Amino acid sequence: MSRQTYREPNGRWGVKGVNWAEIPDRLYGALYKLRRYEDLCEEPIVVERAIAATDETTWVRVDSEHHVWGCKNCGKLHKFETDGPIENGFACCPYCGFKITHTEGDEDEPA
Ligand SMILES: [Zn+2]
Repeated sequence: MSRQTYREPNGRWGVKGVNWAEIPDRLYGALYKLRRYEDLCEEPIVVERAIAATDETTWVRVDSEHHVWGCKNCGKLHKFETDGPIENGFACCPYCGFKITHTEGDEDEPA
């Protein structure tokens, strides 16, 4: 299936056959999500990650005072408001898409 959304060199975007002036404003958000979805599906790394959905990673606490954790696979850091990836409902790394199966350094530390 070909893309339903397009983007012009000047940054404007649209949906094939849709005139912005003729649709309700509330539809804009849904169409924006469609465009983002189509953008992501064209990213080779996203497709590769989806195929390799069994890939797993470990997140390591880097800075316990500031709740900063890092992904062992991609090396990206993430700062939580409090606690770590499990307590905040992270099942996968939002940067590389690998499933978070282990954490290190999440033991409670003395205040
Ligand atoms: Zn990662």
